[in-house]
Amino acid sequence: MSQVPYLLTPGPLTTSQATKQSMLRDWGSWDSDFNQITRRVCERLLAIVQAAGTHECVPLQGSGTFSVEAAIGTLVPRGGHVLVPQNGAYCQRIARICRVLGRKLTTIDYAEDAAVRAEDIERQLQADPGITHVALVHCETSAGILNPLEAVAEVVARQGRALIVDAMSSFGALPIDARTTPFDALIAASGKCLEGPPGMAFVIAKRSVLERAEGNSHSLAMDLYDQWVYMQRTTQWRFTPPTHVVAAFDSAIDQYLREGACAARGARYAANCRTLVNGFSQLGLRSFLPAAIQAPIIVTFHAPRLPHYEFRSFYAAVKAHGYILYPGKLTSIETFRVGCMGQLGERGMAGAVEAVAEVLAELTAAA
Ligand SMILES: *Cc1c(COP(=O)(O)O)cnc(C)c1O
Repeated sequence: MSQVPYLLTPGPLTTSQATKQSMLRDWGSWDSDFNQITRRVCERLLAIVQAAGTHECVPLQGSGTFSVEAAIGTLVPRGGHVLVPQNGAYCQRIARICRVLGRKLTTIDYAEDAAVRAEDIERQLQADPGITHVALVHCETSAGILNPLEAVAEVVARQGRALIVDAMSSFGALPIDARTTPFDALIAASGKCLEGPPGMAFVIAKRSVLERAEGNSHSLAMDLYDQWVYMQRTTQWRFTPPTHVVAAFDSAIDQYLREGACAARGARYAANCRTLVNGFSQLGLRSFLPAAIQAPIIVTFHAPRLPHYEFRSFYAAVKAHGYILYPGKLTSIETFRVGCMGQLGERGMAGAVEAVAEVLAELTAAA
């Protein structure tokens, strides 16, 4: 194979040549040129969700989970009480963060193939006035479900509570508007729909909420308040920034805006998702979710019906054809996942469908 395989995974994903090239230079963390890049990145991230003026963007070193944990730890006071509607592994991770940080937790549990319902959340908030925050995962990347962010934001606001959104795998591809969708904080990362390399995440937090967050965090390194105050005062990151990642993320955002921002990115992923689901369906591969709740980000498929099927060997065969699949994350049935994001080259998603068709033919012949 002449080229490294394309990643059909929901982060890390295949970045463009221009994004990779922007990592070929070193930056000083105190250097004003670098700190202007950080400032530009944060301003553009705020603009993507129309949050300039009301919210602040606080970047943080690390993968997305670091920022989710930092947001819960910094923005939920120690006496707070978090409601987590759960329909997948990323919701469960938020619940686990609440337990580890000692924040009071209530969950509403759903099946892995059902979307969260705003009515259930409203009922729970009415029944328990002690709940201070709701933490919602917008696109549940474990099965690929789109949860109803706008409807949930509306009931949370109506009940006078705060909303924290894990928008990790939707930010930049699915529209979110801070002017009409009230939230205290929204979290995403460099290596997802904005197609940068992994290594930094960010929290878009309401300024009035951040201003009141001093002293909430149990942790020094994960204290978003401290990171925000320090950055405002010095223009620098507290502690060593992931310089190459920030520079490449800046380039990736540039390309994103030139491509046509959220509308274009969302349309490209939706087209990928259609090509994938239709193409696989012709190969006899069934997707797991009902179309109505399928986000155009990542698709879960039932395992191929082959004798002696094993994900590992299927994965290896598809990799030999130039594509990296993602294992399933469901608890009870055998599945695998395919991400719709990233730079998939000239043949795009059709190339991936062709590769899987060839692999299935090979494995069938060998069986
Ligand atoms: C990717 C992702 C995260 C963060 O996971 P990391 O492995 O820490 O990058 C959190 N929530 C959702 C919904 C995600 O898709």
